[in-house]
Amino acid sequence: MTRKFVIKFPAEQTGDSLTYNLIKKFDIRINILKADIDAGRSGTLLIELNAEEEKIQAAVDYISSQGMDISPVETKIKLEAEKCISCGACTSSCLSGALSISAPDWNLRFEPEKCIVCKLCLKACPLQLFKIEFSE
Ligand code: SF4
Ligand code: SF4
Repeated sequence: MTRKFVIKFPAEQTGDSLTYNLIKKFDIRINILKADIDAGRSGTLLIELNAEEEKIQAAVDYISSQGMDISPVETKIKLEAEKCISCGACTSSCLSGALSISAPDWNLRFEPEKCIVCKLCLKACPLQLFKIEFSE
């Protein structure tokens, strides 16, 4: 499984090699999506952890025990619906059925509750109307 987290570092922790420790201790694949860290100052990391659920939970517990603040991040797909021309290109990419076009109006319908955030629509839309949103 893959989960995203925001980690906030107190100033005294910013020099630690967190990603190295997570890989060595918990055998987790890590993807740093955003980093705002300066040695000696507090900072923020947006990371993606990929491993079995128990390993991710152990890593989260470890990060908390090191005096860092870690919060899960929700990922959502956002559509600029007002610019959509209902060409239908995205619907064939959307295996979950969150995107559809049907009679009588043949306008694109987006049902976010069905979205599994596979991100395939980001490449499919010729107008690039899909974006990823992160929220804590
Ligand atoms: S991210 Fe995937 S599931 Fe969600 S709307 Fe796009 S194609 Fe459909
Ligand atoms: S591919 Fe883009 S323009 Fe076409 S229907 Fe989907 S969101 Fe609208």
